[in-house]
Amino acid sequence: MHMFCYQCQETGEGKGCTHTGECGKSEEVANLQDLLIYALKGIGVLNDALFNAGGTIDRKIGMFVCNALFMTVTNTNFDPDRLHSVIARALAIKREIRARYTDRLTGQGDSSATRNNTLPEDEQVVWDSTDPAEIVKKAYQVGVLSTTNEDTRSLREMITYALKGMSAYTYHANLLGYFDDAILAFIYRALTAVSREHTLGELVTLALEAGKVTIDAMALLDTANNETFGQSAVSHVSLGVRKNPGVLISGHDLKDIEDLLMQTEGTGVDVYTHSEMIAAHYYPKLKRFAHLAGNYGNAWWNQDEDFGTFNGPIIVTSNCITPVHPSYAGRIFTTGPAAFPGVRHIQRDENERIDFGGVIALAKRLPPPRQLDDQIFTGGFGWRQLAEAAPKIIDLVRAGKIRRFIVIAGCDGRDRSRIYYREVAERLPVDSIILTAGCAKYPFMKLNLGDIDGIPRIIDAGQCNDCYSLVKIAMLLMEAFAAKSINDLPISFDIAWYDQKAVAVLLSLLHLGVAGIRLGPTLPGFLSPIVRTMLVEKFALRPIGTSEADAHAMMAGN
Ligand code: SF4
Repeated sequence: MHMFCYQCQETGEGKGCTHTGECGKSEEVANLQDLLIYALKGIGVLNDALFNAGGTIDRKIGMFVCNALFMTVTNTNFDPDRLHSVIARALAIKREIRARYTDRLTGQGDSSATRNNTLPEDEQVVWDSTDPAEIVKKAYQVGVLSTTNEDTRSLREMITYALKGMSAYTYHANLLGYFDDAILAFIYRALTAVSREHTLGELVTLALEAGKVTIDAMALLDTANNETFGQSAVSHVSLGVRKNPGVLISGHDLKDIEDLLMQTEGTGVDVYTHSEMIAAHYYPKLKRFAHLAGNYGNAWWNQDEDFGTFNGPIIVTSNCITPVHPSYAGRIFTTGPAAFPGVRHIQRDENERIDFGGVIALAKRLPPPRQLDDQIFTGGFGWRQLAEAAPKIIDLVRAGKIRRFIVIAGCDGRDRSRIYYREVAERLPVDSIILTAGCAKYPFMKLNLGDIDGIPRIIDAGQCNDCYSLVKIAMLLMEAFAAKSINDLPISFDIAWYDQKAVAVLLSLLHLGVAGIRLGPTLPGFLSPIVRTMLVEKFALRPIGTSEADAHAMMAGN
């Protein structure tokens, strides 16, 4: 067996994982994920052709595609059985679309010969098998390295990773009943484009368009979350514990935590959030539950330690799950796109609701969590709330009390060099404001950096998709200062990346023309030398340096 994957920051030696992934992904899972992407390209090619022939977007298929792309995001799905069943479903969907495509053209009066000539002929569309042995054989052949030109491969993969990120956001919005057919149409068009011959210039243009559509996906989810759960607001979150037994819920799915809060109400079981789920505390319709007790532990990569001491059941609703340690293997569950072999997966019912009865019964039999912390964290500064505070912030900038905004957003991770982000936060002077979202905040979120005339020096918007709020804040500042470009504002970007959602957000910033972004802790292994040079020349993208030099340079506007 063999594998090749270089989609995340942890990739082996910064170049690619060729045996077991650094993340714990097996060769089998890596190959099955490659085959799933291949099958999704086939769906994309067919759907794009159907759409161009006047067909409409099928939202059920769209949700399937988004969920399937999401399943291939780093640290989401490690389960070969689930991947096999999703691949089988993808191939069945291809057959359904082919039939529909043929019917559509027949309805338009095409002759059989014309019809056959019009059907897309890409190999991705033609290949189809229900034979498990064929599936495994095929999986070895269609991976990343099947694109032999390293620059084309680099851009095709970067676009595919952005599709994974925007699909994750779109999937969460879809679950709440919010859809944007234009996002799905783009996903199909891009899946088609990365399956066909294009110049590097055309692929760069498509990558930047993927950044634009990622903003649309984040906006869709922002609307879905704020309309469903109330407008996010500044909130004080306990990092300590209470005396009741508890359930710990991780990942990003706010619908799952709403289900859990409703079902645990009055049972004597408290609910705690982990990692990016901390954002649940910011929404009025979630924080109204008195038994939403606090946020427990650190970022995703500290799962073994946090889940070990939590004592109660744990639910992982999306990325990030890491290989499960025996100390908590009997009390961890997954939902949605997340899965790990041997871990109980709880399916949604036909109304997309989840029955957590078994989890709650287990929680009642287990001891309460062990205290790790006793601090209070303040977050929940969505763009709507900051828009209300904008006049005051603008006055503070004009008065020289706020000299610069530094965006430290994205992902946290295991790499020890990520201490850089905490050091930058510590070194930034008292007239700077840190804008953050995602789990990138974990290295510095407990620092007491104070405030500037009541405006906290750490402004947390929420989950990684809430980078949308940071974009909107930049837009508000542009308007207030009549700036022509984000680059004219007193704002610097020091982005921490780990997975493919961060790739999508990075392309969003590049689409907006943000220049001089610092990216760390390492530059992506999937950037070929030529593609990296293109990004450096066009956008002045650069690696992080030392915390001291970078903090100083950013405050100087460099
Ligand atoms: Fe390696 Fe990252 Fe791929 Fe896992 S997701 S196999 S760590 S590159």
